Amino acid sequence: MAVRLIIDNCTGCKLCLRACPYGAIDIIDDKAQFDDNCTQCGACAASCTFDAILLETSYTPDVDVDQYRGLWVVAEHLHDQFRRGTFELLGEGRRLADKLGVELAAVLLGEGVADMAKGLFAHGADRVYLAQDPVLAHYRTGPYTDVLSGMINQHKPEIVLVSATPQGRDLAPRVAARLSAGLTADCTGLDIDDEERLLVQTRPAFGGNLMATIISRHARPQMATVRPGVMKALDPDPSRTGEIVEIAVHLDERSVIAKVVETVQQEADGQVNLQDADIIVSGGRGLGKPEHFALIRELAEALGGAVGASRAAVDAGWIPAYHQVGQTGRTVQPKLYIACGISGAVQHLAGMSTADCIVAINKDPAAPVFNIATYSIVGDLFEIVPALTKKLREVR
Ligand SMILES: Cc1cc2nc3c(=O)[nH]c(=O)nc-3n(C[C@H](O)[C@H](O)[C@H](O)COP(=O)(O)OP(=O)(O)OC[C@H]3O[C@@H](n4cnc5c(N)ncnc54)[C@H](O)[C@@H]3O)c2cc1C
Repeated sequence: MAVRLIIDNCTGCKLCLRACPYGAIDIIDDKAQFDDNCTQCGACAASCTFDAILLETSYTPDVDVDQYRGLWVVAEHLHDQFRRGTFELLGEGRRLADKLGVELAAVLLGEGVADMAKGLFAHGADRVYLAQDPVLAHYRTGPYTDVLSGMINQHKPEIVLVSATPQGRDLAPRVAARLSAGLTADCTGLDIDDEERLLVQTRPAFGGNLMATIISRHARPQMATVRPGVMKALDPDPSRTGEIVEIAVHLDERSVIAKVVETVQQEADGQVNLQDADIIVSGGRGLGKPEHFALIRELAEALGGAVGASRAAVDAGWIPAYHQVGQTGRTVQPKLYIACGISGAVQHLAGMSTADCIVAINKDPAAPVFNIATYSIVGDLFEIVPALTKKLREVR
């Protein structure tokens, strides 16, 4: 992969100069010139409207994989708080980095975020690559792709992990395409192949009916996205410290097409966010009709938890889609998950099987959900759920 200048096409318009986050371009005699600061991030090629700069990305099976060392986690934050998935990726990243015998680094992009590096060290990072600029204050595809691609080209990590959030799902494929790297989306398991020093990536395939194991033998870095709720975060250790590597970037707002006008927090029926909930009570098709979700809401309320649902209940229009747990819904990892009238299809289990304690209530003793339940209650949910709610209200 390389940036190539077609000098005859260059008009000296300066679009590339504004787009370059690394200050690596100068216009001399109406022609662009690159200096040693160029990271081959490709921002200039994306900005050029005269076909004068090309990013020649091609699949290169002969990439020297030994040049690449270290494991990176891309940190995600909003309103000065890290998203939960960041710490989970650091927890898993720590385990994988120790197995490889390499450093674990976090990438922190934003404006005025240097203080947040402490949280990344506390959760397992040895090093933080920090790039700050007003243009990076809010996530936007273009500048984040440019800066992250350049950082990866400069420092050559062998593995880059990104949360499979809307932001991560937007950013990771862009960066992977820019770098001609392999990317496995929505991994549910990661490991290291000791013999070949490869990232072993597991994810559901064919509608969750089988688990695929994917490796990226030739391209670097090996990139994966992982859903929040799948991996375990480490207990924070505030005494941990590490090295901050500041990456100098100079971004020009004029070169960014997308503008953030306002960020709006969506309220989910006044319920707590499923992915942050410690307790979730979920209802499925066994509820029979939408009004019966009142039973689930009452039990959730008695426990101080959130309401979840199976896709069958969502598809029936009984409850909005943002309550859905599973492969095509939310992945959750609460301390307690109560599944009521849910059979336990593999696609539902994909979203909740890592809960600490699972209570399943189902009238069918052969329901698959019982295979993963900590406590199995065989019986009619219309008797059991109200009885549980009543008892909880008494003792609370
Ligand atoms: C590509 C793909 C993605 C999918 N993604 C998801 C996903 O993200 N999340 C998801 O949930 N599903 C998903 N599904 C659908 C999934 O395969 C199942 O169809 C769905 O989970 C079934 O929902 P359910 O358990 O509520 O319904 P059912 O499978 O119909 O189960 C209802 C259960 O209720 C029990 N029951 C009935 N009456 C009572 C009663 N009175 N008391 C106690 N128990 C009772 C029954 O015994 C039964 O076990 C996906 C499917 C595909 C193909």
